[in-house]
Amino acid sequence: TRPVKIYSSPYPSVPLVNRSVFTHLLGLETPGYVGHWPADQVVFVDASTGLKITRGQLRALALSLGYGLKHSALHAQRGETALVYAPNSLHWPVITFGTFAAGLRITLANNAYNSRELAHQYTNSGAHLVFTTEEGLQTVRETFKEIGVSAADGDKRIIIIDSLKWAGGPDVTATTASAGLVRLEDLLSLGSLTEEEKFEGQGDETTLLCYSSGTTGKPKGVETTHNNLTSIAEMVQSSTDISTHGLVLLAILPYYHIYGCVMQMFWTLRAGITTIIQARFEPEAYCRNIQNFKVSFSLVVPPVLVMLAKHPIVEKYDLRSLEVMISGAAPLGADLTHQVKTRLAKLGTHVSLSQGYGLTETSPTATMVPTKKATECIGSIGYLLPNLEARLVGEDGHDAKKGERGELWLRGPTIMKGYLKNPSATEECITKDRWFQTGDVAIRTKEGLYFIVDRKKELIKYKGFQVPPAELESVLLSHPDIADAAVIGVYSEVQATELPRAYIVPAKPLDEAQKAKFAKSVINWTRERVAKHKQLRGGVAVIDIIPKSAAGKILRRELRLKAEKETIPA
Ligand code: AMP
Repeated sequence: TRPVKIYSSPYPSVPLVNRSVFTHLLGLETPGYVGHWPADQVVFVDASTGLKITRGQLRALALSLGYGLKHSALHAQRGETALVYAPNSLHWPVITFGTFAAGLRITLANNAYNSRELAHQYTNSGAHLVFTTEEGLQTVRETFKEIGVSAADGDKRIIIIDSLKWAGGPDVTATTASAGLVRLEDLLSLGSLTEEEKFEGQGDETTLLCYSSGTTGKPKGVETTHNNLTSIAEMVQSSTDISTHGLVLLAILPYYHIYGCVMQMFWTLRAGITTIIQARFEPEAYCRNIQNFKVSFSLVVPPVLVMLAKHPIVEKYDLRSLEVMISGAAPLGADLTHQVKTRLAKLGTHVSLSQGYGLTETSPTATMVPTKKATECIGSIGYLLPNLEARLVGEDGHDAKKGERGELWLRGPTIMKGYLKNPSATEECITKDRWFQTGDVAIRTKEGLYFIVDRKKELIKYKGFQVPPAELESVLLSHPDIADAAVIGVYSEVQATELPRAYIVPAKPLDEAQKAKFAKSVINWTRERVAKHKQLRGGVAVIDIIPKSAAGKILRRELRLKAEKETIPA
């Protein structure tokens, strides 16, 4: 047996705290300060209206919401779960810290989810309340119907968040559909939690529940604790090699994804960054907001970089304020990095472009390339963050020799508590001595830089969003004319993302013409049943048999090899 080889971070460990996220980021320890920076610093700005809130206002709004949740007819109780189903907006930090102040947990749902997908998360997380917009209302009501909650009962659990009256915005009149529902601004007007009343909590209590399929199966609730979140804020902050206070970040990553939530809300508050919130990513709005708000910092996913490298709109705007860009959630290769940097430089914009790596289960960031080393580290996911340890474990279960590839295992204060109500899935990925098995295969240079070289797990990522093959397979198997199905990811260079591709076995034999027709119909049929990012953009192929192991496990590698020889939509 080869010895266990544990790698530590090149950064000195940072002192960690054991208290609630609210107290850590919005506490009143220093006079004139809220958290780590002056109370009057503008922290969040709504990109479409320019409305803004300071640190002091955020704290006050959160305490008001906490009060409203507890003392209105909602009677929210400590430890209950609220689900947020909404696009990015200025409401997000208020909802997040307001629920935290009241001692609630929040579960963040993809705002493109349909009622079937939302129902799984709502019931699995044990949610009780839903924050949503007029736009999301119909899906939320369908969700309640699907899980057998009466319309009257369901309506008592919905909080409509559209108005920004509390930030100085205009009155928004309720539509007929939402008349009579609880509105966020009503909850904000009832009172304020006192110092004693607000939730201090135990650091190891769960506070955030994002959903991830992990290495296999359907989406599971990832139990992220206060300590996980305060730790990640400290670890990222201490390893950053630039001065963060005064940076202006454009938040385009969805807040419902842990990457968006942690890096664009918790860490930015810790770092003294001003965050401009854009509702959704859209190329022109992205460029316009960078120009208008003099944005200096942008956190992205690779497809945003494809836009910057190719889209004509980029030339119409002045992006010269942009200094730092960090990509995450999916691999960023050297070619795309060069293309973006060269094009922007031609337009007079000189950026440092690097990447970080992580998972929902690791809160999320685990490695990052230092901004000032971006050019030397192209293609790498960077160094291990402080307080983390890593191992690279080979197929044979032994730690890989120096320079060899192995599955990346991580240990440290940002590893999730476990999957909610799912001890067997937790045991499958966290060893007894707390090593978390990422399912990603990496190599490490002798300088301590990591490169992701493969993915062992079945997960597919479309533009940074998770597409669990098991979920799509069960949707496909519910089709009356499909006997068997398997879904894999195929890579599109053009879009810089994986695309979900299905292999299906028809219930009865088909000739070639029928197969082509059937494949097309299945793409359309699936489109109506899953959120946008799970659509079968990589196409559907009709085959005779799904390759499986003796134990009945789909041999995805065989399908991936097969796909390499097939024509895939670009
Ligand atoms: P999620 O939990 O949705 O954040 O997905 C985590 C997965 O995304 C990881 O296990 C990786 O497979 C992938 N991932 C995230 N960041 C990177 C990166 N910089 N390079 C390669 N893969 C990444």
